[in-house]
Amino acid sequence: MSNVTSIQSVATPKPQTIATTAGVAQDETHHSVAPALHLSATYGWKDPCQKPGFDYSRSGNPTRQHLEQALADLEGAARGVVTATGMAAVDLPFNLVNPGELVLAPHDCYGGTYRLLSARAKRGHFRLQFVDQTNEQALLEAFAQKPKLVLIETPSNPLLRVSDIARIVALARSAGTITVADNTFLSPALQNPLHLGCDIVVHSTTKYINGHSDVVGGAVLSRDAALGEELAWWANCTGVTGAPFDSYLTLRGLRTLFVRLQQQENTAHSIAATLADDSRVSQVFYPGLKNDPGHEIASKQQKGFGAMLSVEFAEQVDTLALLRSLNVFTIAESLGGFESLVCTPATMTHASMDEAAQKAAGISKRLVRFSVGLEHEADLLADLNQSLNQATAFHHNATAASG
Ligand SMILES: *Cc1c(COP(=O)(O)O)cnc(C)c1O
Repeated sequence: MSNVTSIQSVATPKPQTIATTAGVAQDETHHSVAPALHLSATYGWKDPCQKPGFDYSRSGNPTRQHLEQALADLEGAARGVVTATGMAAVDLPFNLVNPGELVLAPHDCYGGTYRLLSARAKRGHFRLQFVDQTNEQALLEAFAQKPKLVLIETPSNPLLRVSDIARIVALARSAGTITVADNTFLSPALQNPLHLGCDIVVHSTTKYINGHSDVVGGAVLSRDAALGEELAWWANCTGVTGAPFDSYLTLRGLRTLFVRLQQQENTAHSIAATLADDSRVSQVFYPGLKNDPGHEIASKQQKGFGAMLSVEFAEQVDTLALLRSLNVFTIAESLGGFESLVCTPATMTHASMDEAAQKAAGISKRLVRFSVGLEHEADLLADLNQSLNQATAFHHNATAASG
């Protein structure tokens, strides 16, 4: 008899419980409470004709499997695959598409995804169409062509546009299209696309799921077991599975996902509300604000509004000077960590989009994106205020000097 408790003893554990208990106290050998880190590349066979449960770490690894199971449980998936990076996760479902078949992707998707899909389409791996997925007419026209796969990314990056997942799933079902949702911006804590009918969810676990900016990783979660097996086969075949130590750290980060995100969202919401009332700001993009165009759909399909926001500053603000004078926010790409980050998408995260594509996606040079961390709200607001004062004064001085 074992006195070791496991998740099975609770009928339907809440997501917070799944994140906290995954892999805990399951070690039959030493009864370690924290899940062990298994670094071994290969595993011994008792007999050459009896394949063991784990034989080689590219195909399967006990530490990685704890993370795969936890993420699958959190998203309501039958099967999870943990990959080495978020891009490997985004790429994996495209192994299901044949040359000549059509792929739909959001016109304002993550810059790396835009680059990957464009490059693959150029090589003839599939046909590709970028669509404004918030536009009903554009969606109807795109699905009339019976695409093989549609990639959804909501809220979008960097403008936090919200597309209606259930609506896209309905169109995809009647067209026989596989639906894949990139859920990186909200994490399973705030949105569950499989519950809204999607077939596959992908994550960059680099962001909220790990949350400590010390791992690059990804995950692919599939609602259907057979489809999940097929994706796991491709991950092993192409060798994109995640490393054990990365999985160990990511599982450790996952423990606090729910509390981190709740706190970060509270702070982001109040920064968004404060900036929306500032005369030096022309527009705040944050679906949590009541007048945001995405507010209604976000309220319907999300469990929270998240901790990302973008701001278009007024003409008199020099945005580059603004970034240079921020002290608490760090100028960096990426998002979702405990530390607050700031970037100008046009020159940083979205630099791989040419100017025309940036313009089509609505990314101007005066747009600034914030990833709100766990610092005290008062310190973040004070930092923003002092840098806004400097960036506005800087501009006035420069104008005076040149005039
Ligand atoms: C960061 C990111 C990716 C890519 O993930 P990496 O871990 O950097 O490879 C994909 N999609 C979205 C929405 C992202 O934010």
